[in-house]
Amino acid sequence: MRIVLLGAPGSGKGTQGKKLSEAYGIPKISTGDALRAAVAAGTELGRKAHPLMEAGKLVPDALVYGIVQERFGHDDCKKGYILDGFPRNHAQAEELDRMLGRIGQPALEKAVHLHVDDEEIVQRLHQRAIQEGRDDDKPETIRKRIGVYNSETRPLLDYYAAQGKLVTVDGIGKLEEIYQRIVAAL
Ligand code: ADP
Repeated sequence: MRIVLLGAPGSGKGTQGKKLSEAYGIPKISTGDALRAAVAAGTELGRKAHPLMEAGKLVPDALVYGIVQERFGHDDCKKGYILDGFPRNHAQAEELDRMLGRIGQPALEKAVHLHVDDEEIVQRLHQRAIQEGRDDDKPETIRKRIGVYNSETRPLLDYYAAQGKLVTVDGIGKLEEIYQRIVAAL
């Protein structure tokens, strides 16, 4: 399975991606997780990314390309993978298609859109701010990230629909129900 999960921040990509990864025995590749790890480790990548992440902005495309390409080079990606948080704009989606060709990997099979309305998203992110204390879950950063999602990432729904790869799943309900909807859509 070679898929990308699309959806607003807080739509459940991370949670569902983890379940899929465990069930199918393939890695979940999360650029957000990789960037947070780089910040925690204090690497040069982390130092560049941190202020942008805190402001709810995207980090430069070139920084995430390095993360993804390096990860694709690991053997465990040969059977497939679940992309979470990448691609996030049109340029990244095109680069992903090119990158897979370049490294001789099959094309992406599906883009799974977890659909959750804005009101629910805001509530979930507030909740996550309290529980996890992620420093980009502050109210003003949340608004910024939703804005960036709507302007930069949402257009990818059309990109993948045009390739005949888009499936949309209702992201509201119990975790297990949503998971079953995804599995049925794959
Ligand atoms: P969420 O989906 O909840 O917004 P992520 O964990 O996917 O959170 O990403 C957190 C932050 O990391 C983003 O707001 C952005 O600054 C940065 N980031 C993650 N993935 C990308 C990407 N593909 N391109 C640019 N920036 C990214």
